[in-house]
Amino acid sequence: AVCGRVCPQEKQCESRCIYNKMKKPPVAIGYLERFAADFERENIKANNIELRPSAVEKNGMNIAVVGSGPAGLSFAGDMIKKGYNVTVYEALHEIGGVLKYGIPEFRLPNVVVEAEIDGLRAEGVNFVKDCVIGKTISYDQLHQLGYDGIFVASGAGLPRFMGIPGENFIGIMSANEYLTRINLMGAGRPGEDTPVLKGNRVAVIGGGNTAMDSVRTALRQGSKTAMIVYRRSLEEMPARVEEVHHAQEEGVEFMTLCNPIEYLADEKGRVRAMKVQRMELGEPDASGRRSPVPIEGAIEEIEVDLVIVSVGVSPNPLIPNAIPELEISRRGTIVVNEESMRSSIYDIYAGGDIVRGGATVILAMGDGRRAAAAMDKELMKQEK
Ligand SMILES: Cc1cc2nc3c(=O)[nH]c(=O)nc-3n(C[C@H](O)[C@H](O)[C@H](O)COP(=O)(O)OP(=O)(O)OC[C@H]3O[C@@H](n4cnc5c(N)ncnc54)[C@H](O)[C@@H]3O)c2cc1C
Repeated sequence: AVCGRVCPQEKQCESRCIYNKMKKPPVAIGYLERFAADFERENIKANNIELRPSAVEKNGMNIAVVGSGPAGLSFAGDMIKKGYNVTVYEALHEIGGVLKYGIPEFRLPNVVVEAEIDGLRAEGVNFVKDCVIGKTISYDQLHQLGYDGIFVASGAGLPRFMGIPGENFIGIMSANEYLTRINLMGAGRPGEDTPVLKGNRVAVIGGGNTAMDSVRTALRQGSKTAMIVYRRSLEEMPARVEEVHHAQEEGVEFMTLCNPIEYLADEKGRVRAMKVQRMELGEPDASGRRSPVPIEGAIEEIEVDLVIVSVGVSPNPLIPNAIPELEISRRGTIVVNEESMRSSIYDIYAGGDIVRGGATVILAMGDGRRAAAAMDKELMKQEK
């Protein structure tokens, strides 16, 4: 149900549909999956069906999962069904990772995520919230608690900024902060204490899914003008095609081939404008997309009163910092064997964004499943 709502089907399942070869539109696999999963969820609710654990014999081994995003949840689901005792530790006060704190309700309703979590609870997965592994509980303490295997799925929640002048002015924040305030902390809803700045002219910098979620959220928060500022053209945007269409339909302005180079503030230090450099497309870069090249002298000043920076994320540094023996790549990701998802430490496996950098929900879920299969195989071998 989650994937049917958020996966970039045009690049994943639908791009491999045999209908493409027949020059016909691909089968809408995502929508079909979404229909089936929604039907099942509503059926369970309407008929008050009690969720029961699978009839599987417990093997007495204990597994810890760090992080409750899609990688952690899919891993937990597979391991519990293989007979392990599974505990998922989550730093935040809600289970779900980006599915809860990042992707807004209008795109992925919380009831859908909750239904998946309820299913795991019914299977017997134990969830511990407000617990930061590496701070509240150390790696050594996890061993003392008797865990036989650890799966790290701590995501890529560290926002990047552009490092341009004025980026610290009031009214400029990361998409992570903006979306977390609204989605997780209830900012903007009557009766909630969490504040959030509401702009009249909001600029969201970037062209990914996070940027689309932020700009559409800004419209819902009441901004008069909400614009995407992206340094390449519409064709190169990494966001799902559907998200771009929805944003266009809702009246988002697209300033493509534009890159902010400086922010300007009023006397109180609050952002009032941004200078943007107009770009043109040059030769393809390493990603295969045509790279943006500045047009000399083409600099404009544009009025803005809220800027949301959505130019990518870095791996969460908490676990890499807490376990110095863990092999970490130059990008800050945990290095794993691609097939088994096992790290340089024998009992730690990892998957999702902490291994890939910012990627997608379905890739994170696939990692969780591969890691579960490999960890189970290894632990069963040790048992013999
Ligand atoms: C706004 C937004 C929109 C997106 N839209 C899409 C989309 O449309 N389609 C798509 O496929 N992908 C999308 N993505 C990307 C996708 O959400 C991620 O690739 C995916 O969630 C990664 O899953 P994960 O399980 O690795 O990590 P996450 O979902 O990031 O979960 C990691 C969890 O680990 C917790 N954690 C971190 N460190 C610790 C610790 N030390 N102890 C305990 N807990 C810890 C974090 O609090 C977090 O809850 C989007 C991302 C964002 C931010």
